[in-house]
Amino acid sequence: MPELPEVTTTVNGLNKTVVGRIISDVWADWARLIRDCSMDKFRLRVVGAKITNARRRAKNILIDLDNGDTILVHMKMTGHLLFGRWRSCDGKWIATTEGSLRNDPYNGHIRMMITFEDGAQLALSDLRRFAKVGIFRTDAEHNHAELSKLGPEPLEPAFTLLAFKECIVKKTSRSIKQVLLDQTRISGIGNIYADEMLFRSGIHPKSNPFAIPNKKLSLLYKTMRNILREGIEFGGDSMSDYRNILGERGSFQEKHLAYRRTGLKCLERGCGGKITRSVIGGRGSHFCLTHQMLYT
Ligand SMILES: [Zn+2]
Repeated sequence: MPELPEVTTTVNGLNKTVVGRIISDVWADWARLIRDCSMDKFRLRVVGAKITNARRRAKNILIDLDNGDTILVHMKMTGHLLFGRWRSCDGKWIATTEGSLRNDPYNGHIRMMITFEDGAQLALSDLRRFAKVGIFRTDAEHNHAELSKLGPEPLEPAFTLLAFKECIVKKTSRSIKQVLLDQTRISGIGNIYADEMLFRSGIHPKSNPFAIPNKKLSLLYKTMRNILREGIEFGGDSMSDYRNILGERGSFQEKHLAYRRTGLKCLERGCGGKITRSVIGGRGSHFCLTHQMLYT
């Protein structure tokens, strides 16, 4: 699932491509994609509006319009937004833009198409159909059922070491891995980056947050921020379906030290251990039993 770095990469791409464009049409291949209203109402609200800005909140993409509405896109498991041009052929969208949009099969599962006045288009490709699209009044964001429950943003300057520690050790009986994934505590971290930050911090994912020494929590905080920034720098992680707005792969998957390296030699200097996999809180977790300490 796209996490903070992938969603940021898409949002940066949107700000370079669709801002200033006026929506002239919307198409979706199934009505359930749109969550907050009917497809007809959604079309009425967005057609004729100009896109003024794209933002990220947790793993949500927020696209502000000049009519006071905001479109929310959650890419979920396999969704991603693409910018280019397509033509409709026998009920299928064929990219007329050369390159990845046409050649990469991961970009070929078009579920929604927003067409702009100048003919350029914004598509949502989503193999497994878990992505969702919503719309809300921009000035009512603080009341939004899901957005209002989200925890702080880990890369915001206000998210200090102290704030991080408070989020982590707030009343819980769950493991550090589960706490990191809890979007109401910290926003934007998913399975890949959680495994990688715990590996680099030398903390076993099943550790009890209360038992982790202060020094280790400080290291985890620093590692978390570094690794999320690194993810953005490498254009996101495309081990699975994620592609950027131009349909191109990111390269953070080449930096993995733990995620999906089950059975391979641990790359931590001087460790000599092996990466193992175990399910924690319903999520496959990858870690090294030798250098990642279990605090209980
Ligand atoms: Zn190791």
